[in-house]
Amino acid sequence: MPELFAQVILPLSLHGAYTYKVPALLQNDIAPGKRVIVQFGKKKMYAALVLSLSSEMPEEIEIKEVQQILDEHPVVLPENFRLWHWIASYYCCTLGDVFRAALPTGLKLESKSKVFLTGADTQVEISDNEEIILRQLEQDVCLLDDFQRKLGSNFSYAALKSLMGKQLIYVEEKVNAKYKPKTESFVKLHPEIDSEKTLNEKAESLKRAKKQLQLLYHFCSATNAFEPDQVIEITKRELLHGTSFSPSLVKELDKKKLLKEFRKQVSRIEEEKIDQVSINLLNKYQEKALAEIKSEFENKQVTLIHGITASGKTEIYIHLIDEILKTGKQALYLVPEIALTTQIIQRLKNVFGNKVGIYHSRLNSQERVEIWEKTLQFQQEPGKGYQVVLGARSAVFLPFSKIGLVIVDEEHENSFKQFDPTPRYNARDMAVILGLQNNAKVLLGSATPSYESYYNALAGKYGLVNLFKRHSEMQLPEIIVSDLKRAYKRKEMRSLLTPDLYELMETALEKKEQIILFQNRRGYSPFVECFTCGHIPKCSNCDVSLTYHKYKRRLSCHYCGFSYQLPDKCDECGSPEIKTRGFGTEKIEDEIKQLFRNARIARMDLDTTQSKDAFSKIVKNLEERKTDILIGTQMVTKGLDFDHVSVVGILNADNLINFPDFRAHERAYQLISQVSGRAGRKYKRGKVVIQTSQPDHPLIELIQKQDYQQALNIQFEERKFFKYPPFFRLIKIVVKHKNIDTVNRASNQLAKLLKEYKHLIVMGPEFPLISRIQLWHQKEIWIKIDKKLNLDLVKSGIVESAKNVKKQPSNSNCVINIDVDPY
Ligand code: ADP
Ligand code: ZN
Ligand code: ZN
Repeated sequence: MPELFAQVILPLSLHGAYTYKVPALLQNDIAPGKRVIVQFGKKKMYAALVLSLSSEMPEEIEIKEVQQILDEHPVVLPENFRLWHWIASYYCCTLGDVFRAALPTGLKLESKSKVFLTGADTQVEISDNEEIILRQLEQDVCLLDDFQRKLGSNFSYAALKSLMGKQLIYVEEKVNAKYKPKTESFVKLHPEIDSEKTLNEKAESLKRAKKQLQLLYHFCSATNAFEPDQVIEITKRELLHGTSFSPSLVKELDKKKLLKEFRKQVSRIEEEKIDQVSINLLNKYQEKALAEIKSEFENKQVTLIHGITASGKTEIYIHLIDEILKTGKQALYLVPEIALTTQIIQRLKNVFGNKVGIYHSRLNSQERVEIWEKTLQFQQEPGKGYQVVLGARSAVFLPFSKIGLVIVDEEHENSFKQFDPTPRYNARDMAVILGLQNNAKVLLGSATPSYESYYNALAGKYGLVNLFKRHSEMQLPEIIVSDLKRAYKRKEMRSLLTPDLYELMETALEKKEQIILFQNRRGYSPFVECFTCGHIPKCSNCDVSLTYHKYKRRLSCHYCGFSYQLPDKCDECGSPEIKTRGFGTEKIEDEIKQLFRNARIARMDLDTTQSKDAFSKIVKNLEERKTDILIGTQMVTKGLDFDHVSVVGILNADNLINFPDFRAHERAYQLISQVSGRAGRKYKRGKVVIQTSQPDHPLIELIQKQDYQQALNIQFEERKFFKYPPFFRLIKIVVKHKNIDTVNRASNQLAKLLKEYKHLIVMGPEFPLISRIQLWHQKEIWIKIDKKLNLDLVKSGIVESAKNVKKQPSNSNCVINIDVDPY
């Protein structure tokens, strides 16, 4: 047999692929995209991913062998690898980094993964190697690392994987994950009952236990026992549903060896029986937009739809998806995490039934593996796999085999960007690459497109379609700008409300209409201050003031979680007079309760939506009009349609506009128009009040006129002048270390090296707004890059310089992060 070599990606931050020899025994089974067990370093074993195979002898002298193959079918497809390569090169990271970001934990088997017993008692055969693992786990939950150490050569990855397949164990990434697989009670005939005859004989003994006998017959008829179409097992829930049998009867029948009750792991992804509804007819404006999109697609791979809020973009997406599914291809529909509400999920499931998978970060690892596998399954068994996936950012990594359409809704949202860890990718941009690589069409949609995408559209790179009519003749809301300074000066403020907002709220409540109040800060007040000496308590790990949470009476850091009880006296001078400053959602709630005593008030922010169902409960209450006033952060702005909200209040627009960031104006515009869009749906014209102390600010005027175009023009002038995107590219480099001197030295060295590249504009190093997070000091260097330059060359120069700085012994342990297209 000729020799065969496998190039594999290890789940480590290493550049390039590593080569292993494939033993003759495994040559038939090995294939790119399958996971294999290899040894790396002295002793450690890893589940690596086969990238490619070749018969060419590599140059290394010592070459190790692939130990085992874990998968029957590839879990990653060749076309997926193309995207991985692009990410690694574009975002300056390694293939190992991409591997770690792309695969769900359950498929990764990293050394830090934790292994648990599921507690299910399926009656399956267990091999010796599997038995060893189970016995170890009976004592304690184990890290994969520990297994290797404790069991030595007795540990086998194949056995581990087989146990996962038998659903006896599961793997989680986070140490304190609360997730446990869902198990459910099932009932079947007792194994000793092998024919109808034995059943009847044994049933004789039940003569006096009438109820038990009835249940037994009920079981037989529910499962068609001994008929050709017999169902072997059914869930206990289903068996007892709609009957008066008590669950203990099943136990009795189990004792008498007539039935057998057992627990089994079940999918959490409920395959509900959905009555598919036909899709909505489009209104004439949507019809026109759809036709325009299709005509743009004829010669453009990517098209941007600029459609105002409530213009019904979702309906257009659904029509496009429907058409692509009919051609046998797959569709990916990306939305920001917080827009993944039951409203949109339900809408899609109603139309596409069980063809739809949903993929987001609130799923546990087992659920994610299920979605991954069903997306793969589409290649082999199109009827069973997912043809459409609705998902957040990470869904762009799913193993699509026949992608035909990618939709990115709310494409301007910065939550498509992954900040940490590397790869710091933007899923919107990756969606575009995914489309280009697979000849799939890409539709970006937004009411307020990102300036990058709009620029691409103006430049003719993307198609552009406008949709400026709201569905069913709804009007855009009227925007009222309310002067905070004047209201304070005239002493007209009602707590945090200007008279404009207060009066509108009063009228709305009288008419039983609903109200949304927006403030982009949670907690009670962003900081507290000593009235006597001016001392402001700060986090001891981070360079930020502590936010006061009144309900818990605690000061807490929103960056590291550090918190302590609000002190009675100032830490510095002992004065008891500690005052709260500024206001967050919690304080608004407090104040509004005082002002409108009869109103039913709810709050939606990170603090009130911690528990699993809290978010949907708040939404439901609003939908059912059990809430009159909803107060919230960004969370209230996305993906929610409420029909009776007539007033929206933005309590303080100043901190949005004045934020020190080159995107601040773009973002303020987007955010305010998104929140405003919640007003006046299916209702008469809604009203929005923007409270600001800068009513004459040009941006506020443009927001009031809802003139996206003009706001963009002004920003374009500025960005061109100051060399910012979309006219220049940006790369941000963050240098971190626990020692501030090291940060200063290393960042200066790096900046000096970078400045040798004369064509680059290098700014900094400088301390960012928050210069220390979780005890790590940090400095930033920003690089502006002319779009005419060869980006690959620029990047390799940057990567090289960073390596050189890190290499110096005095900079050891220094972290240097490269962020391409930072947000
Ligand atoms: P957008 O995403 O553009 O803000 P949506 O797609 O959420 O707008 O549509 C706004 C509302 O109008 C939704 O409640 C939606 O169900 C309704 N709607 C839009 N188009 C139609 C249509 N063609 N038929 C029925 N209802 C529609
Ligand atoms: Zn003090
Ligand atoms: Zn902190």
